[in-house]
Amino acid sequence: MNFVAECKECQRLAAEYEAATMEWFRAQGQLRVAQFSHEQESSDRLRDELSAISGRRDQLREATGKHELERHAEVAIPEAAAASGVR
Ligand SMILES: [Zn+2]
Repeated sequence: MNFVAECKECQRLAAEYEAATMEWFRAQGQLRVAQFSHEQESSDRLRDELSAISGRRDQLREATGKHELERHAEVAIPEAAAASGVR
């Protein structure tokens, strides 16, 4: 859909989400290696890192939903906009 593809904010949120996803996979890979090598300290650190990244992805998902509702609601999801009272 063009209106979303051309929206700078949508692009920014999508890029950040993608970056966080890549980061998550990277940390997940490192965690596997650390667990395999029984590196307790690294495993703990990576587990913290993964949960921080997950939190960031949740926030970005939320921000994307909020932005879409605020900026693209009439076009994208009229039912959701009507339900939330956004005009
Ligand atoms: Zn947008």
